[in-house]
Amino acid sequence: MKGNFMSYQFDHRQLADEMEIFFFDEEIGAGLPVWLPNGVAIRDQLENFIKELERRGGYQRVVSPHLGRQDLYEKSGHLSCFNENMYPPIHWPEEGQEEKKNYYLKPMNCPHHHKVFKALPRSYRHLPLRIAEYGQVYRYEPSGSLRGLSRVRGLCQNDAHIYIDPADSLKEILSVLALHEHCYKSLGLSGYRYRLSLRDKSRPNDFQGEDSKWIEAEEILRKALQEKNLNFFEAIGEAAFYGPKIDVQMKMGAGVEESIASVQLDFLSAERFDLSYSASSGDQIRPWIVHRAPLGSHERFVALLLEYFDGQLPGWLSPVQVMILPLSENEQEACRKIQDRFMHEGLRCRVDESQGSLSKRVLFAHRSRPFAKLVIGPKELGSGIFKLEFRDKKQDGDIESVIKIMKGACAAPA
Ligand SMILES: [Zn+2]
Repeated sequence: MKGNFMSYQFDHRQLADEMEIFFFDEEIGAGLPVWLPNGVAIRDQLENFIKELERRGGYQRVVSPHLGRQDLYEKSGHLSCFNENMYPPIHWPEEGQEEKKNYYLKPMNCPHHHKVFKALPRSYRHLPLRIAEYGQVYRYEPSGSLRGLSRVRGLCQNDAHIYIDPADSLKEILSVLALHEHCYKSLGLSGYRYRLSLRDKSRPNDFQGEDSKWIEAEEILRKALQEKNLNFFEAIGEAAFYGPKIDVQMKMGAGVEESIASVQLDFLSAERFDLSYSASSGDQIRPWIVHRAPLGSHERFVALLLEYFDGQLPGWLSPVQVMILPLSENEQEACRKIQDRFMHEGLRCRVDESQGSLSKRVLFAHRSRPFAKLVIGPKELGSGIFKLEFRDKKQDGDIESVIKIMKGACAAPA
């Protein structure tokens, strides 16, 4: 059943293969997906959607490089706490010179964003400072755990770091949770739950920072979840090494629950990176940092969407919004002209060029899960009346009305 996470059992790997979303290649490397045009259509739509919400929410966008020097990850704590998930360093043949230190592919965008905060003088007037980036990161996942797009070694995250006055933590977490809820509601997702991920006090080496700050930050997250009345449970030992977090848990097609997104409250990194802002009193204060990614990574999020909707994505996300099927070769030319009209109106349209009987071609066209089909023969071309076949209904009209119907049905949520 479409849209019900308890009963769907579809595998995004098969769907993505039929829909031409991505592929892997041994020579490129295990777990490093290459996105095809249909996959990029989905990514672009998701990015347009969230970037507009973030713009309205006061986020500012940055772009940072895919790698960083060893010193950066020593400072951030990644080399001591996240080393197992990092690609091995890029060594220089000779050592000694400053620029010839080891470089690492970035496993997270946080250290680069902390440098953005530090790059300019900051005062309380700049806060909350919301720095956003769809950032590409690399994580060396064990080969046995790789699964299609849901567990990969190269991923692009809907990332942002919010630098706040610690006193504003609850307020900012509430607004970040509201953004999460808005996204999932707009996407038609339900059946997920939140996980409050806490430290494990018996493993002090894995969770750094002062005891009192852990207690305070964990309580702020708990309070935010309660205040928003969200369905959540608590999990000891699932926190990040620099602070507690709230994870969004959604069931993938195989029934396995995955963390699709997270909100982290970080009281540690500002000290490590010596970040501060001047308060109204003139004092230098360490900000707290909220890490958040409502749409997680493109990789896992698209895997989830494919499995959740069994490939029948909503109109605005469908890589093929209209599939035109010419009744015979005689209509090919006219169909291509109609395709141009759709494309000109901003709709993603494809003309079926395959051979064989119409019924066979319709079956094959289903592989790309078009949002609507348009079969065009001499009758349609003669009368100028076209019939749109949606997944659950049919609607007809002249070309102008059909375009108008499609544009309405494929409008992205705001
Ligand atoms: Zn982060």
